[in-house]
Amino acid sequence: RDGGVPVLAMRGLSRSFGGLRAVYGVDLDIAPASVTGLLGPNGSGKTTLFNLIDGTVWPSSGRLTLAGRRAERASRPARSHAGLARTYQLPRLFPSLTVLENVVIAERRLSPPRLALPRVTAAERDRAMAVLAGLGLAGYADVSPGTLSYGQRKLIELAQVLWLDPVLVLLDEPAAGISPALAQRLAAIIRRLRADGVGVLLVEHDVAFLASLADRVHVMANGAIIASGTVAEVSADPAVVDAYLGD
Ligand code: ADP
Repeated sequence: RDGGVPVLAMRGLSRSFGGLRAVYGVDLDIAPASVTGLLGPNGSGKTTLFNLIDGTVWPSSGRLTLAGRRAERASRPARSHAGLARTYQLPRLFPSLTVLENVVIAERRLSPPRLALPRVTAAERDRAMAVLAGLGLAGYADVSPGTLSYGQRKLIELAQVLWLDPVLVLLDEPAAGISPALAQRLAAIIRRLRADGVGVLLVEHDVAFLASLADRVHVMANGAIIASGTVAEVSADPAVVDAYLGD
């Protein structure tokens, strides 16, 4: 992977809903092999920024490049093929499929839903088992995700991410609502992604978790980035304190 080209670059990225500026003038680069945190009070634009990055919404203005290519109007499947993978605050898994099938269909998830069950080849099964084993989930390969805990389901979403072999990963509150032990495992997985060259961008309110992991954080308020730096630096920034007190 090219160490010089950001896996994600945004310039003047903005999105309004009616008269509301949900995201406004965002300039942000994500380098390969980096972990970046996104903080901000409710309604500050974090989810809209993720939706702009993965193509769920298109910008009103500004530019976005994925791995060096213009992408602000690319489809979600095209961005997925370009190496983008995302998890959600609440895991989105098919309860009628097994855990392993959910992993294998990760890249087909963006296509129109199909009625037929996916056929899993032996090679796919081997690779999915390796991914699940790396997350300590091998024993759950053939059960429904509905039988698992919330934290385990969050790990299965990470298995889907790993299956896609991404260059850029967006994680929406990965540590929310999971046990400290699981959070440690999650942190190890994120560090491994970084060591493998992946750029990781995560929304996370757990500041201690973020401080242990992120190379840099950005704080949003009213759609704009108001502070950037280490967790310690932004925590001491009066503009950040004001943004949270005004919430
Ligand atoms: P956060 O994730 O930081 O809580 P959001 O990106 O969800 O913030 O929201 C930013 C602002 O944009 C909020 O005021 C929200 O109500 C608004 N917003 C988000 N999505 C839409 C939408 N589809 N239509 C109208 N307003 C929206």
